[in-house]
Amino acid sequence: MTDLNVYPVRAFQDNYVWTLRQGNNAAVVDPGEAAPVLAFLHAQKLNLTAILNTHHHADHVGGNAELLEHYPVPVYGPYDDRIPTVSERVREGDKFTLPGFGIEFEVLEIPAHTRTHIAFVGAGMVFCGDTLFACGCGRLFEGTPAQMHTALTKLARLPGATRVYCGHEYTLSNIKFARVVEAGNAELAQWEQTAAALRAKDEPTLPSTLAQELRTNPFLRCSEAAVAAAASKHAGHELSEPVSVLGALREWKNSF
Ligand code: ZN
Ligand code: FE
Repeated sequence: MTDLNVYPVRAFQDNYVWTLRQGNNAAVVDPGEAAPVLAFLHAQKLNLTAILNTHHHADHVGGNAELLEHYPVPVYGPYDDRIPTVSERVREGDKFTLPGFGIEFEVLEIPAHTRTHIAFVGAGMVFCGDTLFACGCGRLFEGTPAQMHTALTKLARLPGATRVYCGHEYTLSNIKFARVVEAGNAELAQWEQTAAALRAKDEPTLPSTLAQELRTNPFLRCSEAAVAAAASKHAGHELSEPVSVLGALREWKNSF
């Protein structure tokens, strides 16, 4: 089997259109705009075989229609009328072989950032859109802290070595917040140096791994005493349940 590679094609300010490549075939996750994807495909002489969408936001699906004009490929995405270009609707537990690739993806439903947000899991990778970020999580536009806690817990059950491909380059600002929440976490200080060095070279900080997220991401660490204590202090009252801790952290981060 030819090597599988994943490239970070950039879109807008800080979006990544993760582009899988095997041989001359390519598949893209969350193409918010078509132009940078088309430029990459042309430069690398690749043939697009599929589009995957994690959720309906324009910065993740805005390039679908234009890509389809050039490449009439299947589009995998959630059951959500707000993405009319999806041709293959998928839900929790669905599995499919990525067209043109020898790999299988399984779908996880992870509603919270949006009510139909999904993740694609396969080949030791997870494409989690705007739900799990390196050292952070997405905003709760259409869901509750309880839903985000459930979604993150579901992702956290994947093997620790799973590579985490997030929709945005938010790592450095997320680490700054995490360091205020959990000042005693030595790995966060190390991660901040590593991430800052990568960004200084204009390189992505992603993918992360699930094991690294479990050690550094405050939104996955709501059961840790230090995280709960910081959230309680900021909220001004005692928070004992992980869901309440997550809710307080999310509100805190919104205005951080
Ligand atoms: Zn989004
Ligand atoms: Fe986004």
